[in-house]
Amino acid sequence: MKKLDLHPRIVLAVYAHPDDADVAAGGALAAFAADGALVHIVTACDGAKGSGDPKVNIAELRALRARELGLAAELLGAASVESLGYADGDVSNDSHLRERLVAIIRRLRPEVVLGPDPTATFFDGVYVNHRDHRELGWALVDAVAPAAAMPLYFPDSGDMHHVDTLLLSGTHEPDVIVDISVGIEKKILAVLAHESQLSEDPEWVRNAVRARAQQAGREVGIACGESFRHLDFSR
Ligand SMILES: [Zn+2]
Repeated sequence: MKKLDLHPRIVLAVYAHPDDADVAAGGALAAFAADGALVHIVTACDGAKGSGDPKVNIAELRALRARELGLAAELLGAASVESLGYADGDVSNDSHLRERLVAIIRRLRPEVVLGPDPTATFFDGVYVNHRDHRELGWALVDAVAPAAAMPLYFPDSGDMHHVDTLLLSGTHEPDVIVDISVGIEKKILAVLAHESQLSEDPEWVRNAVRARAQQAGREVGIACGESFRHLDFSR
């Protein structure tokens, strides 16, 4: 494990559900923004199935989750946030989604892209990684390398753009830690902004998010960190 020092000007985080970016990478996004980067957040799904209540008003939940997403993005210091509008569970790594992601990458032209590691399927014998995370993760990987960087892929969706760094979260094979010491408090607030998704008491969440960041930080001797699988395309 090594500490990764990055000072990008433009960062793009692409995740499946409205709270995913904050939980997985909110500290890194806040730290990049504090360092002067333009941080853009894209979520694939509207989050309108994110409730255990069969009688929940879907339209109200969709609107609530969009408001929570907007507030969280603001707390992180993001420059923009957009949703691709998929229903939860309906994300597929198809040509249409890859073209949409390629168009966003070519429009925003980030040096660093963050998203979910699609290779992580089972966790500790008790959790199956959500299908949307896996499908979106593969679509993003495929959109970054090579599609966005090759002119003959989706030629009507912008000028080719080469992404230098891909950071994948929720991974079984983390190899870098990003220092989020300046971003941890913003990450906590962003995670707490998704009130509809909190099943635990806010103080518990606050402590859990901080403890996880401290544990990652300890691996490389810093106060707080987030771990990722790192792909370096700049060489
Ligand atoms: Zn999710």
